[in-house]
Amino acid sequence: MCTAPTRPQPEAAPDGPNEDHFAVGDGWALVLDGAGRYPNESGGCIHPVTWVVARLGAHLSRHLAERPEQPLTAIARSAIEATMADHGPACDLSHPLSPGATAAIIRLRDDQVEWLVVGDCAVVIDQGQGEPTSIIDDRVDRLPGAPVVEGRVRTYSPAYVATIRNRPGGFWVLGAAPAAAEHALTGALPQRSVTQILRCTDGVSRLTERYGWGWSAVFALCEEGGPEALIRAVRSAERDDPNPRRWRGKRHDDATVVVLRMDQVYA
Ligand SMILES: [Zn+2]
Repeated sequence: MCTAPTRPQPEAAPDGPNEDHFAVGDGWALVLDGAGRYPNESGGCIHPVTWVVARLGAHLSRHLAERPEQPLTAIARSAIEATMADHGPACDLSHPLSPGATAAIIRLRDDQVEWLVVGDCAVVIDQGQGEPTSIIDDRVDRLPGAPVVEGRVRTYSPAYVATIRNRPGGFWVLGAAPAAAEHALTGALPQRSVTQILRCTDGVSRLTERYGWGWSAVFALCEEGGPEALIRAVRSAERDDPNPRRWRGKRHDDATVVVLRMDQVYA
């Protein structure tokens, strides 16, 4: 059984450091996924992506705990600004490839479940009937004419990303542009209409986006085997993929999932 919240399950990709981050507090939870370093690009910053993700996670957690009256967009903006202040004078935060993170945040406030999603993290809401509702910010996948570079992994060219990252009409990540907070996807539903909520990084949502799973099957596997079973399913699908280079990005990515079951919130 998934507990409330389920034991969060972050797992680094087999070939690198874990740039995912999660935190769970009283009535809120978040996952972050590091976004940023391109080969031979410093992004104007002397810090590793893991440092940026940890600073964002710490500021978001503190503001979620201390400022329950503020909208999630205001909390995200404050966390970006506090993270920017942490960098110090050695970093050029005006650099268009400055490292940051994608994020999925949920909060229980009054009688609502609120969410904020930016980048390619996902919030998925199960209302107990029908197919769950997924909130995924896929703007990065819908950039018209985006040039893909064939390197060690397939990726957008850094020069192109520099022209559309944290820009209107492009895509947004939390890190060095406070306006990203206002460009996040946000919404709310009555708590009593929600059965369970899943937040995950794109290392997990590729089960549905690449490998044909439905979100109902994802929830069912989590119920049966816990988040560990989901991570095993991701790694198995990646290993069995006959042509992993058809996808942009790494064959294995960091994978983090947190599930909150509302019946246990009310228990
Ligand atoms: Zn820095």
